[in-house]
Amino acid sequence: MGLIVGLEEKLPSGFLLTTVEKLAGYMRKNSLWPATFGLACCAIEMMAAGAGRYDLARFGMEVFRASPRQADLMIVAGRVSNKMAPVVRQIYDQMAAPKWTIAMGACASSGGMFNNYAIVQGVDHIIPVDIYLPGCPPRPEMLMDAILKLHEQIGNEKLGVNRAKIVKEVEASAIAATPIHQIPVFGKQG
Ligand code: SF4
Repeated sequence: MGLIVGLEEKLPSGFLLTTVEKLAGYMRKNSLWPATFGLACCAIEMMAAGAGRYDLARFGMEVFRASPRQADLMIVAGRVSNKMAPVVRQIYDQMAAPKWTIAMGACASSGGMFNNYAIVQGVDHIIPVDIYLPGCPPRPEMLMDAILKLHEQIGNEKLGVNRAKIVKEVEASAIAATPIHQIPVFGKQG
């Protein structure tokens, strides 16, 4: 006869034990609603991801919201011009918190091939980014993969004091990091 230990032996069947953090993460990751907007060619791939062939609806995300107040995921699909930057920022500010961002494609992530004065060299200059998706353009499968990775990230997000501790650690490591202008560039002379 085995030794009976643990609370689970005493509970009636049908009980599930978890933490508030895990439960909140589970609910948040499975109810992401993207804001409806696209900036350039990458947006065509984003639209394809939402249509019948790729069917983003399988992950509960087919409802692209026309109002940022009803959205908590921003997919920046395409290059961000300086003219559009304040608009993108305003949409982000109007979205419901907590909110997440995917920089879709080379242009949104870094300016891509548009290394010029008209294009913001990475949307992270104006809003925080959670996932950078490479490619020009990334295919719908890649966007779906990025979304699933974001789901994982959201599912494991900490709350309360645990979150505050992580934010502090991230800030400390950012302050300790070498500034970009001091990182030596390959092939560049002194
Ligand atoms: S990454 Fe390529 S496909 Fe996407 S917006 Fe830039 S140029 Fe267009």
